[in-house]
Amino acid sequence: MRFKDIVGQRVLINQLTEVIDAGRVSHAQMMLGKMGYGTLALAMGYVQYLMCENRQHYGEGGELRADSCGECPSCKKIESMVHPDVHLYFPTISTTKVEKPRCSEYREEFVKFLQEKGMYVKVNDWYVYSGAENKQGEYRKADALELIEEVGMKSYEGREKVFILWGPEQIKTQVANELLKTLEEPYEGTLIMLVGESDDRMLATVRSRVQTTRVPRIMDGGLPEEAEGDYIEAQRLRNEGEEIEEMKRLFVEWMRLLFKLKMAELGKWVEGMARAGREKQKQFLGYVLENMRRCFGETASGTAAALKTGDERFDAMFPSMVTPRNVEQIYESVSEALFSIERNANPKVTLMQLSFQLSRYIKNR
Ligand SMILES: [Zn+2]
Repeated sequence: MRFKDIVGQRVLINQLTEVIDAGRVSHAQMMLGKMGYGTLALAMGYVQYLMCENRQHYGEGGELRADSCGECPSCKKIESMVHPDVHLYFPTISTTKVEKPRCSEYREEFVKFLQEKGMYVKVNDWYVYSGAENKQGEYRKADALELIEEVGMKSYEGREKVFILWGPEQIKTQVANELLKTLEEPYEGTLIMLVGESDDRMLATVRSRVQTTRVPRIMDGGLPEEAEGDYIEAQRLRNEGEEIEEMKRLFVEWMRLLFKLKMAELGKWVEGMARAGREKQKQFLGYVLENMRRCFGETASGTAAALKTGDERFDAMFPSMVTPRNVEQIYESVSEALFSIERNANPKVTLMQLSFQLSRYIKNR
């Protein structure tokens, strides 16, 4: 990742490159900020600049004063995520197959995930990608031991060694205890870089041992503050474009089935959704809530095109189904289903029940 490809953050980037150029790189650091601000992207850009064999300097005039070259062997390897001295760590999820997974077992998949989805992803996106259903990832003791071992080894290319730990909020006490000494003592040419979103969910013992760079909202670089939310949304939409398209399709399909109440087809739809996994179901129900809110907003204010499923006929017709008479019931039912799914209720039963409820509310609008 070159800094030029990061949106905004010019002031921060210029500060970072200045510190690196001055050779004042602290050995244990943390980039802290929402991933939508470009926090992971900045960490990657930082590492690439640090290790670049041909750092570019543009002088005081340019908005970016320096950047990695993107062409030297080091840059190339980092960009294709095959640099042997850049080690990626991240939380993993236990499954029925693997009870205590380790980073090393998932690293290939993780690299694929970043290559596909880009650097503006959230930790939760990774869980979904790795088929997590409704679980939270964790760092394991084995990951800490692997990291400590690698820190102690010579670098492959005789230069810096970097360890990027994404989602340090998921480092729990037992694992942290293994890591504290390594975070405290600098090893020659070694950088440990934590990349997190929120320090109040992070262990104080970890937080206090790293030098923290707070990544601000995207305000510089020509993006006004009010556009920033849209930008992040756009980034996410781009990253998740296909998923969103699928959700739109599923929503239209479901609502049509509810209206006609064709049992066989509805049954199939519910079964398909039940197979998709809890994360998908939660995401989808969240999307349904959002759409209902839009529909109601539309009928109430009379403005057009608040619903954007891409199906024009549906978008024009459906908002009139959500009225002051049924909006609360709809909201309550969808929220309750979401709550049940989060608590491991049977998705098939939950979604079927919800289907009947919504069908009734829509008919009694
Ligand atoms: Zn380079």
